[in-house]
Amino acid sequence: MSLPTERLRSVIALEKKKGCQNTAVIGGLDKFLAKWAVEAASTINDRSVLERFRKLLSRFEYAAMPVEKRSAALDGLTALAEAVEGTPNNIALNKNQNQSEAPVVAEPPAAYRKKVTQSKAPAASPASLSLPVTALKGISEATAVKFKKLGIATVNDLLYHFPARHVDYSQTAKISSLLPGPDQTIVANIWEVRLTTPGGRRSTEAILGDETGNIRALWFNNPYLVKQLRNGDRVVISGRVSDWKGRLVFESPEWEKLEEKELVHTGRLVPVYPLTAGLFPRAVRKLMKEVVDGFSGSLSDYLPSDIRQHRGLIGLSSAVSQAHFPDDELSKNAARVRLAFDELFFLQLGVLARKRAWQHSQPALAIPTDNTLLNRFLKSLAFTLTGAQQKSLNEILSDLKRTEAMSRLLQGEVGSGKTVVAAGAILMAISAGFQAAIMAPTEILAEQHFRSLTRMLDLLATEKQAVDGITSYLGILPDRPFSVALLIGDAKESGKTAIRGRIKTGEVDLVIGTHALIQKDVKFKKLGLAVIDEQHRFGVEQRLSLRQKGTNPHILVMTATPIPRTLALTLYGDLDLSVINELPPGRQTIKTRWLKPEQRSSAYAFIRKQVDLKQQAFIICPLVEESEAVQARAATAEYENLKQDVFPEFRLGLLHGRMSATEKDSVMGAFGTGKLDILVSTPVIEVGIDVPNATVMLIESADRFGLSQLHQFRGRVGRGTEQSYCMLLAENPSEVANARLAVIEKTQDGFVLAEEDLKLRGPGEFFGTRQSGLPDLKMAKLSDVPILEMAREEATKLFQQDPGLKKPEHRALYDELIHIWPQTGEWS
Ligand code: ADP
Ligand code: MG
Repeated sequence: MSLPTERLRSVIALEKKKGCQNTAVIGGLDKFLAKWAVEAASTINDRSVLERFRKLLSRFEYAAMPVEKRSAALDGLTALAEAVEGTPNNIALNKNQNQSEAPVVAEPPAAYRKKVTQSKAPAASPASLSLPVTALKGISEATAVKFKKLGIATVNDLLYHFPARHVDYSQTAKISSLLPGPDQTIVANIWEVRLTTPGGRRSTEAILGDETGNIRALWFNNPYLVKQLRNGDRVVISGRVSDWKGRLVFESPEWEKLEEKELVHTGRLVPVYPLTAGLFPRAVRKLMKEVVDGFSGSLSDYLPSDIRQHRGLIGLSSAVSQAHFPDDELSKNAARVRLAFDELFFLQLGVLARKRAWQHSQPALAIPTDNTLLNRFLKSLAFTLTGAQQKSLNEILSDLKRTEAMSRLLQGEVGSGKTVVAAGAILMAISAGFQAAIMAPTEILAEQHFRSLTRMLDLLATEKQAVDGITSYLGILPDRPFSVALLIGDAKESGKTAIRGRIKTGEVDLVIGTHALIQKDVKFKKLGLAVIDEQHRFGVEQRLSLRQKGTNPHILVMTATPIPRTLALTLYGDLDLSVINELPPGRQTIKTRWLKPEQRSSAYAFIRKQVDLKQQAFIICPLVEESEAVQARAATAEYENLKQDVFPEFRLGLLHGRMSATEKDSVMGAFGTGKLDILVSTPVIEVGIDVPNATVMLIESADRFGLSQLHQFRGRVGRGTEQSYCMLLAENPSEVANARLAVIEKTQDGFVLAEEDLKLRGPGEFFGTRQSGLPDLKMAKLSDVPILEMAREEATKLFQQDPGLKKPEHRALYDELIHIWPQTGEWS
C-alpha cells in the first residue's frame, strides 16, 4: 500500500546488510523512526495497529540496544510494517477474537484486549498537545470548566493528569473461586438483567455465569444499566464481592462488554483519577484512554538519550502511557521512575541555575566579624549557646566575610534556638554599617521576633527610646544609636510610611516584618543581611524579592522543618546547609496523648488541674476552611463556649488572624506575661510562639493537620522547665489521619516526623511546592532517595558540561525547563 512502509523496509534491509551498526541512515535509526512515525501514523486507520505501532516505537531505542539484539528488533519493525500495510495483522486479530469466545475464561484478560475498530481520533502531532480540551470529541465548554478546576486546560495537561492510584483487576477468576473481598475480576455471560428496587431505590441487577457457576451483580441506585446490558452479552466484571445473606454478590462493579475494544475499566490495572464535582470516573477514564492512545505518542522526549541510557529510563511517551494504563506492575513502576526522575531532575536544574545566577550577579558586600560586640552579646544572654548553635553561627559568620552573597539554610528543630543565632549575625551586619531585615510568615511571629530581639538588645544597651514605632538603643554601637522597627501590613498607614521613609534613609538599622517588607515601596539604603524565618512558608519568589532589596545582600533562611539531606539539596539546592541538631539542655519531652472523642471532659479536667498549678494552656481550634474569616468566627464561638460553660473560673483569651495587630499584640502580651490562663487560638499560632510557662495544649480536630504542623503546634509547649503535655482530639479520623496521630503520639523527633509525613503525603504536598514556586511534584516520593540522587548527579553533570544548555542536543531540554520554570528566566 504505502510509500512510508516501503522506505522503512529498505532502511531495515540496508541496516541488516551493514551489520546492524546503526549506520543505514544519517543520524541513526531512532531519529529516522521518529520522523517516519509521524508520517506513517497518519496512514493508519486501524486503532489496534496504531496502538501497537505506538507501543513499539515509544520503547524502541535502537542506539541503546546491544548489537546482538538489533537484528531481532529489526524483525519486529518488519512485522510492524506488515501490520501497517494490512492483511497479516487482521488475521492475527481475528485469532485473538476467536480466543475470546472460547469457553475457558480463567486466562489473563490481556488476551482479549486488541479489537478492531475504526479510529475516530484526528491524527495527532506535537502541536496538537497544546490544543484546548474542548478540541476533543465529547468535551463541551461546560465539561472544560470542570477540568479547569483540576488545573487542566490542554490535551497536554490531560496527559499529565495522572491517576491517584490503580486498582488491580488484572487477574481473572472463575466464579466458583470468588471470595468476599475487593478487586476481583471475572469474564462471564449475562443470563438475565432486570430492574429491582431494594430499599426503594431503582437499581440494576444481573445474573452472570461462567462454566463454573453463577453470581449476582447489583448496581444500587443505578437503573440506567438495564438499557446497556443485554442477556447473552459477554462481559468483564471487576469489583468488590460481598456476602449477602450467605450468597455472593458483586457490589456496583465496573463492567465492560468484551466485544467493544481494549479493556479500560476492568480486567487490567485500572486507573483511578482525581475528580471534581460533575466529572464521573467512567467517563473520565474513557476519555483518558482515548487521549493517551491518541496523543502520548506525540510527546517528544526532551531527555538526552545518554542520560536515559545511562540510567535505564524508559522513553517519555511510553512512560506517560504506562503511568495511566500500565500493562503490568513492572511497567507501571518503570513509568513512575522515569516521570519522578524528570520532576526531580528539572527541580535540580532549576535550583542550580538560580544559584549560578546569584553567583554571577554583582558581588556582595563583605561583613567582618566584630568580635568585641559578639562576645558582649553572647555574655549578655541568660544561657550559653549549644555546640550546634555555635557551629552554625560560625558557618554564617564566615560566609558573611566573603564577597559572594551567602545563601544559607539554617535548619533546626522547633525550640533549638535559631533566633539567637540569627541575632548574632544581624549584630555583625549592623556593626559593619549595613541594614538587616527579618521576614516572618505571620504578623504574630513578626511581633514575637520583634519582642525577643528587643529583649536581647535591652540586655546589651545602656539606654533605649521609642519614638514613632522606632526603638533606638544607645550603648550597643560605639558611635551611633542602633534602631529597630516593626513593619507589618496591619499597622496604620501613616506609621508605615514614616518607617519606610526611615528605612530608605538608613536611619532604621534593623527592620522586622512580614510580606510587607517585600512590597515595592520598601527601599533600603544598604541592606546587608536578610533573614527569612520559617522558610517553608515562603515562596522562592519572595526570597528573590527580598534579595533584590539590596545590592545582593547575604541571605539566611531558617526552617524548623527537618528535611532529609538529599531532599534538602534537591529542593533547596541553591542553599548551603547549617543544622542545629540538638536542643538546649534540660528540655522535657512533651507527653502526647491522642484522646477518644468521649474523653473531651477529662481533657478539660486536665487543663483545669494544670491551670490550678499556675501553668497556662493553649486550645487550638479546628481548621474550618482556608478562609480566615470563617476560622475567626468558629474560634470566636468556641471561645465564648469555653469561657461561659467550661472554664468560667479562668481568664481566657482569643487569638485569630482577623484581629488587628494591636489586638493580637495585646492578647499575646497578656498571655506572655501570665495575665491570661488559657489562650484559644486558630492555627495562626502555629509557628514560633514562645511562652515558656505554657505547659498544656489541646488540639481540636487534630486529624485535619499534617504531622509537621502538629509538631509545630506542640512545640509551643515544653519551652520551659516544667513537664508539658499535648492532647489531641479527633472526631472521625480517616485511615491516614489515624496513622498520623499514632506517629505523633509516639514520636518527639521532628526529623522522624518529617520522614513519616513525607511518606504519608509525598513531597509535593509536604513542601507545598505549588505555593513555594517550585514545580509541582506529582510522581516523586520520599522513598525515592535513589532517584533523587540519580537526578541530582545527572543535573550536576549536565550543568558542568553545558551550564546554559546551549548545545543543540540540549535544545529540547532547555525548552522544557523554561516551560517548567518560566519565572527564573536565568537561562538566557
Ligand atoms: P526556634 O529555633 O524554634 O526558633 P527559638 O529561637 O524561639 O527557637 O528559641 C526557643 C527558646 O529557647 C527561646 O526561649 C530561647 O531563648 C531559648 N534558647 C535558645 N538557645 C538556648 C540555649 N543555648 N540554652 C537555653 N535556652 C536557649
Ligand atoms: Mg523560630
